Amino acid sequence: MLQKSAENDSQEKSCGDKVDEIYGEGSHSEKREEAGFILQLSITGRCNLRCTHCYDDAEDHQDMPVESCENILDQFFALCCLWKRTPVIWLTGGEPTLHPQFWHILDYIKIHSDLINAHSLVAVLSNGINFTEEFVKRLEEHPLDIYVQISLDGARAETHDAIRGKGSFEKAVAALELLTPTAIETHIHFVVHRDNYDDAFTMPDVAKALGADVLTVTRLVPWGRGGKLYEKMLSPEQVKNLFKSLSDDLDEIMDADDSPGALISRARCDWPIIYPDPSTPEASTKNGFRCGVGRSYINIQENGDVYPCRRMPIKIGNVFEEDLMTIWQHPLLWKFRRKHRFVQGKCQECFFNVEAPRICSGGASCIAYAVYNDPFQPDPQCPVDPSQAPAGTDRENHVLH
Ligand code: SF4
Ligand code: SF4
Repeated sequence: MLQKSAENDSQEKSCGDKVDEIYGEGSHSEKREEAGFILQLSITGRCNLRCTHCYDDAEDHQDMPVESCENILDQFFALCCLWKRTPVIWLTGGEPTLHPQFWHILDYIKIHSDLINAHSLVAVLSNGINFTEEFVKRLEEHPLDIYVQISLDGARAETHDAIRGKGSFEKAVAALELLTPTAIETHIHFVVHRDNYDDAFTMPDVAKALGADVLTVTRLVPWGRGGKLYEKMLSPEQVKNLFKSLSDDLDEIMDADDSPGALISRARCDWPIIYPDPSTPEASTKNGFRCGVGRSYINIQENGDVYPCRRMPIKIGNVFEEDLMTIWQHPLLWKFRRKHRFVQGKCQECFFNVEAPRICSGGASCIAYAVYNDPFQPDPQCPVDPSQAPAGTDRENHVLH
């Protein structure tokens, strides 16, 4: 199928041709450096679960028409060419494997990546319910570079099923057991709040036992159905204790000679500052990264609505009405690109905003937005007190310039 479609396309297009075709002749640039650009594409709003923490609480869901998926992907590839960025596509939803043309979308990504000579990375973000032996075999045989993320919100059925529904733990584990012996890179994704807090500490062992490659523990963003879990959000102290423990686990895994276990995803946007002393090397190596909004993420919903990120539902346009390039120029995204200047409160005095904005700049914008309705407020779960290590003091000893 792949070969046939590729053969039908009469001539291979260069990146510049592709950009010119969509955005006008001569619009491509060779100036930008290579880095990933992530399209979080919700190809369907439909889902076979009703998780308590889901961002979505609507009941009426649709699939994105496949022609719209193709049009968005064309524009996305053109932007990646224009900015010399590696295309990274997260197929999400709802449950993306429910889209009736799921395989066609993967094929389309492969063919069009090849046509512009790009090595796209695709992630399938799934609850694992649909995974059968045949499905996993087909994924493994697909020529795209694909990784799969399965949500597991408890170390035990009792915890996970209370969040995701009866029997869902068994199915998620079965999906992981099908995936991990294959060549497909397999991630476990765990959303933490007070109901599964204790389990989160044991997730590195669970991930290792299941043979997963990567474990991501991420904080609850109380949107949609998840808004009802507001009271279950972790305190800054709980956040600090959990992520310090996970960080220590990762250090142990990386130092081990054999049987290392799943890597814990630490270099991420909502990983909190757990090493607050700027004079230590850990401050720059183990504290995560700033929010990627306006730089490396864009989210498109199945109805064409565009958000800066899936976890921050501020509509900045609709891709069925305007092109992606126009939406990318939205003033809010420009404000995010300079977030360190606009972030409020204690962050204005904090080293990790003033001196090292790439590390924090106010923490998780999505969580601040969910709690304060303002993404430029300090991350409410940030455990740092800048008055203990104020920005601008003892600069000669800072390692983070
Ligand atoms: S005070 Fe603000 S900038 Fe500093 S670590 Fe916390 S969220 Fe980040
Ligand atoms: S909005 Fe939240 S999840 Fe999205 S990039 Fe920013 S910190 Fe990360």
